[in-house]
Amino acid sequence: MDCLFCKIAAGEIPSNKVYEDEQVLAFYDIAPAAPVHVLFIPKTHLAGVRDVTAENATVVAHIFAVIPQVAAQLGVTDYRIVSNNGADAGQTVQHLHFHLLAGRELGAMG
Ligand code: 5GP
Ligand code: ZN
Repeated sequence: MDCLFCKIAAGEIPSNKVYEDEQVLAFYDIAPAAPVHVLFIPKTHLAGVRDVTAENATVVAHIFAVIPQVAAQLGVTDYRIVSNNGADAGQTVQHLHFHLLAGRELGAMG
């Protein structure tokens, strides 16, 4: 499948990795929107939150178990988790990902 984040998960495209296990990869966003901007992706392809089901949600639970560990590793206590789903929400890569944004006052949600 021609998916950028599948290629990053497979190591076919390099990324600046923060955390990796069998199910999840976390890496720095190439165009950071905050001083700390990390993306968490499942290694298996899901197009976005719209693809999450009762059957595959365990990987999402796992990502949310990893996020606080990675945040602690990065030394941030205050952060925002965002997942854009669909064009109007600003989704540009059609592979489920969670943004971790931190390192500045993040302001109100848009
Ligand atoms: P979205 O806009 O879909 O919510 O988030 C996609 C994110 O992926 C954007 O913040 C964008 O900067 C990031 N991104 C796009 N291409 C690459 C890439 O090749 N490498 C990395 N590390 N991040 C990327
Ligand atoms: Zn993918």
